[in-house]
Amino acid sequence: MPKRLWERLVLASDIRFDARWADLSNKHLQYLADQLTKCQFNANGKSTFKDEFVTSGGISLKEIDFKRFESRIHKNLFFAGEILDIDAVTGGFNFQNAWTGGFISGNAMAKD
Ligand SMILES: Cc1cc2nc3c(=O)[nH]c(=O)nc-3n(C[C@H](O)[C@H](O)[C@H](O)COP(=O)(O)OP(=O)(O)OC[C@H]3O[C@@H](n4cnc5c(N)ncnc54)[C@H](O)[C@@H]3O)c2cc1C
Repeated sequence: MPKRLWERLVLASDIRFDARWADLSNKHLQYLADQLTKCQFNANGKSTFKDEFVTSGGISLKEIDFKRFESRIHKNLFFAGEILDIDAVTGGFNFQNAWTGGFISGNAMAKD
């Protein structure tokens, strides 16, 4: 986990920045677990990059069965996200690609 994200989650859990792990109460551990599993974010603009990025190129889409995100060439080999040759338009569609592909391929793997 990126250090800056961890620091934000710790602060959002009402834990002092200099607190030691061994000194945390169960209540604060629960707050932290909630932050790790249920935290919500409101997007209110772009990052300091002022732009979005995605890697061009990757595994040809013709080689993928998108019902399972599985290689048509090698059975039981799954791909999702940046590794595929998908350049989505900016605005979160690359994340959506990665999450959707991860979800579908994960389910397909679990069913086999
Ligand atoms: C600066 C920047 C801004 C972006 N902004 C946006 C945006 O606003 N909207 C949008 O939709 N998309 C954006 N993207 C693109 C988006 O982040 C990616 O498309 C998406 O994160 C891809 O997800 P992924 O899981 O495929 O790959 P990644 O998020 O890159 O995850 C791959 C993971 O695998 C790990 N890894 C690599 N090699 C190994 C190994 N050998 N063993 C174990 N682990 C390994 C890496 O550490 C990494 O955690 C941005 C990308 C960048 C770089």
